Amino acid sequence: MNSIQDNIAKVQSRISEACARSGRQPADVTLIAVTKYTTVDIARELVKGGIQHLGENRIEGFQETYEALKGQADFHFIGSLQTRKVKDVIDQVDRLHSLDRLKLAKEIDKRAQKKVSCFVQVNVSGEESKHGLAPVDVVPFIQELEVYPRINVCGLMTMAPHTPDESLLRHCFQQLARLKEEVQALKLPFAPCHELSMGMSGDFEIAIEEGATHIRIGSMLVQSNT
Ligand SMILES: *Cc1c(COP(=O)(O)O)cnc(C)c1O
Repeated sequence: MNSIQDNIAKVQSRISEACARSGRQPADVTLIAVTKYTTVDIARELVKGGIQHLGENRIEGFQETYEALKGQADFHFIGSLQTRKVKDVIDQVDRLHSLDRLKLAKEIDKRAQKKVSCFVQVNVSGEESKHGLAPVDVVPFIQELEVYPRINVCGLMTMAPHTPDESLLRHCFQQLARLKEEVQALKLPFAPCHELSMGMSGDFEIAIEEGATHIRIGSMLVQSNT
């Protein structure tokens, strides 16, 4: 096995173990391979190795990977999206993980040809360097999205702090899961909000144990072990 296939197998078995620990099914956790550190060739290898979802946080990287692999994978935009760039990518995006302001929602609504599934990004940890809404602002923000028919809120997304402190990470993921339930309880037709995009290379097992439906894995898939 080459190292990419090896990495995929390792991640998948750790997903299975985390699911087993928490009474969940691996099929309920979507693995998104984040290709921001890599070349199109590596993205192609990931797809060949069985990866069905690719994630990018830069416009150029997204477009390049999309052109090379469209039809062979689903494409997630996971980075902060500038309003003026929306028209360049929005119809290629299967899920946007970074909806965090009304101006962006308005532009998506204006430019997209069809409904766009969006995760609302939440800054659970409150770190200043992180994008996303403060938890208290999430419900009022989502309620305001009603006027944009092309926006569908499929769930909530967060980036946990970079820390080895497991209880802090768990607390962060639990808060996002609770907030998701709060939105779901509103039963808004444009915001079913049944998904949770949380968990990266350093913390995805904890995220799965706390209910992640989409994990975004970069370095652990593309690093070489040779
Ligand atoms: C880079 C990135 C990831 C993947 O990070 P790794 O720690 O390399 O797995 C996940 N989500 C977002 C938003 C990212 O920018």
